[in-house]
Amino acid sequence: MTSLTPKPSQIESWDRLPSDWQNDERMDALFSFFKDRDLNAVHYDAKMKFWSETIIDYCEDHGLLQIDMPTIVSRFRRKGRTPKCLDKIFEELTKQNRLISTNDYANSQQSWSSWTFNKLASPLTGWMSPRTPIDQEVFIIKELVDKKAQQVIDTLQSNVYVPTFDCVVSFSTFIDTCRRCTLIDENSINLIISTLTKDKKILIDHIGDAKDVKVVKFIMPGTSIVRPLTEIETSVLLLRHSKQRLEEQLKKTDQQIEGLLADIYRHLKNSNRTAAKKLLRKKKLLELEHDKKENMIEHLNSVLTQIEQTDCSSLIINAYSSGVQAHKELLRKNGLTPDAVEDMIDEVHEMLDTQNEIDEALRRPVTNDTTDMTELEDELEELLKQPIPPTPATSLPINVDIINTPIADDVIKPPETDPFADLELRLQKLGVQEPEHVWLVKFPHKDNYLLHIQKSFPLIDLLQHDYDQSSYVFLIPNNYLSDFTHFIHRLHGSYRIITNNPEKTWKKSQRRSKRWVPSDNPLDQTYYQHFLSYDEQQDWYNLLKTSLLTKKFIRSYTIGHTYENRTLTIIKILGHSHRRHQQRKYAIYIDGGMHAREWLSIGVANYILIQFLKLRKTNVKVREILYNFDIYMLPLMNPDGYEFSRHENRLWRKNRSPTTHSDFWNGDQSCYGIDLNRNFPYEWNNTIGASDHACSHSYRGPSPASENEVISVVTFLRQQQLSNQKFYAYFNLHAYGRFWLLPWTYSLSKKVSNYDELFNRSSKVVSSVMKKTYRVGQASRLLYPCTGTSIDFAATLMPHAMTFELSPMFKGLPMCFDQNKTLDDTCTVGFLTDPKEIEIDGTEIFNAIVEYMYSIIRDRCL
Ligand SMILES: [Zn+2]
Repeated sequence: MTSLTPKPSQIESWDRLPSDWQNDERMDALFSFFKDRDLNAVHYDAKMKFWSETIIDYCEDHGLLQIDMPTIVSRFRRKGRTPKCLDKIFEELTKQNRLISTNDYANSQQSWSSWTFNKLASPLTGWMSPRTPIDQEVFIIKELVDKKAQQVIDTLQSNVYVPTFDCVVSFSTFIDTCRRCTLIDENSINLIISTLTKDKKILIDHIGDAKDVKVVKFIMPGTSIVRPLTEIETSVLLLRHSKQRLEEQLKKTDQQIEGLLADIYRHLKNSNRTAAKKLLRKKKLLELEHDKKENMIEHLNSVLTQIEQTDCSSLIINAYSSGVQAHKELLRKNGLTPDAVEDMIDEVHEMLDTQNEIDEALRRPVTNDTTDMTELEDELEELLKQPIPPTPATSLPINVDIINTPIADDVIKPPETDPFADLELRLQKLGVQEPEHVWLVKFPHKDNYLLHIQKSFPLIDLLQHDYDQSSYVFLIPNNYLSDFTHFIHRLHGSYRIITNNPEKTWKKSQRRSKRWVPSDNPLDQTYYQHFLSYDEQQDWYNLLKTSLLTKKFIRSYTIGHTYENRTLTIIKILGHSHRRHQQRKYAIYIDGGMHAREWLSIGVANYILIQFLKLRKTNVKVREILYNFDIYMLPLMNPDGYEFSRHENRLWRKNRSPTTHSDFWNGDQSCYGIDLNRNFPYEWNNTIGASDHACSHSYRGPSPASENEVISVVTFLRQQQLSNQKFYAYFNLHAYGRFWLLPWTYSLSKKVSNYDELFNRSSKVVSSVMKKTYRVGQASRLLYPCTGTSIDFAATLMPHAMTFELSPMFKGLPMCFDQNKTLDDTCTVGFLTDPKEIEIDGTEIFNAIVEYMYSIIRDRCL
């Protein structure tokens, strides 16, 4: 019997081998022929259940979607014996429709005309005979096929950003996706294609003039059946396809040019001017062609970006062009006139024209007539004047070659100073002030792209990333745009512009709708239902200190001042006095607002403060915690940055102290500020994930704890550790991503000594109060390694230190900047949280902290 699977595997090494397998007596019974069910129905059913589950689990774990009896019999060989009862098992599974004979299955797949898998199936099968004996039949395992098919759809859908046209992929992309879902052999892939087609989850089509581009359309997320290809999908797909082909051609041309240049130098070295000139002419032509293609790609990119940004209008175009009556309804809803629709239809046609132009260009051979011979002569002269680079000797290592090559004087002479070089640099630097772009970038593989990016483009700010999806959202200064585009293309990534003027959009979207009226009650919900300004926050602290409701239970401390002279205020929530605890031995430290744009973390800190005060007596767990701990809170660690993000730049992250670069760069705002969470004095020197470029959004500062905010906190925490009351736990609030991060941050390989305890305790809390929706793990692994962070510093002082990255969860989606746009599943709010979120996230985090600290008390870990 030819096995359907490529490799047999030892049953004994199977992870999920049932424990009964070691029990001889039990296995003897399970291996024997079935007796009549009437004799002992319980035994009969248990045996049936054992084999059905074991066989299907085995197939799932070994990637088998099809089975035949002889293969299974031989796989389950035990001590020289094979099971004798499998015919009955196969019969029963067939009866239950869990196994379907390939014959029947193929016959049911009539919609799939080029169905090939039956030809590939077992050579033993007598396909034409109506009844094949069960031991010669090949079966499909229905539930595993369905599961795999769903996995393929899920994977495809996870890459959908704009449902209007992202639900179509090239056939090769589809096959790649199947392979990523561990569908290895052609047979299995065909089986999945057939199933998905039959269930109307995908359809396969051919597009292009010559119908030579094979594509797969899959169901849009949230719908039940796949719809036919639309005009806009076809157009976008063809444009994308052309872009890909152009890029491939461009790469080839690049290599050719490089090869020619090497040959030209070789000829020049040998004084063969004529040959060099001939090649130069060829190179010139290639370069012309290269430029044309590059322009075309550029053009295509802008067309595609435009189309992707007019997503909602494309819905209307679709309705219109497919002649659906519903378009009238859409028109009415969107307040559009028929004229506006006409414009859109024109756009589609323009798009199709672009496509034709590009097709034409792709077909055109390299032309021969445009080179100007004098230009050529000039270039040759230029080349001759330049020193000829040494041709590396193939047999020698390259450094030996360099040592042995005499260096011409003019090579080491410094280049003449270009009077404009400085100007250019200044202009480039000033460019940072221009509106920045926000891009969603996707790379095809999982790789450490951040390290490259940080090195080559220090001013690019990472707003969020998803390592598993290899997708990133970046804030990119204008002067990087073209270089960064090349960088992305070189790594075969793709990008989409989310906005090219974020300032304008978020200023509009973040305006507070109603004037805020403070309450006399410091515990009133109004203090956590809005994002308070720094001044409002300070007024609230004063109210907490003076109100009869709260003043007995809190203390406040000014621990320092910021560069712009704002006060850093810590509020201490006093624990309960208790006979057994004359003085509480331990304290908890919680902070928020370390990164200016992460407003939610400030709101949540305020919420937590209020909840501890409100529930101090009434809630059993809170009361118990306050018997054991005092709580110190710094809800707003970076007030300068926060105010700047409220008035000037919503996505500001650092503080606002000037750097060595700020004066020289003459008002360039990007070169102000230090990333406080890279400035803490632990492993600061080790600059992984922290920048020493003053203009970077993750600039670590000139020296450890150079910043007022950081040195104030560091001094406060250190002094406290020397007192009678020590800090026991630190909760550090950030946004966003829904991560529960544990130290160390600075190293991928090193773990804090009590890591396992931290991990287990946190995971339990996540399962019990956070519906398992937070990801727990080491910060350097879940996000990325970086140095000089506050939790790393805190972990040197106390046993429990952790960071919460609050909501929303990052799903590889861009931020929705425009509040007028209906929030749908094509974008995320990111940092631009609605104040309503404070209470929702606050409740979750408050409960998590309470649960965590309570579990420590309960386990008597103190
Ligand atoms: Zn942060």
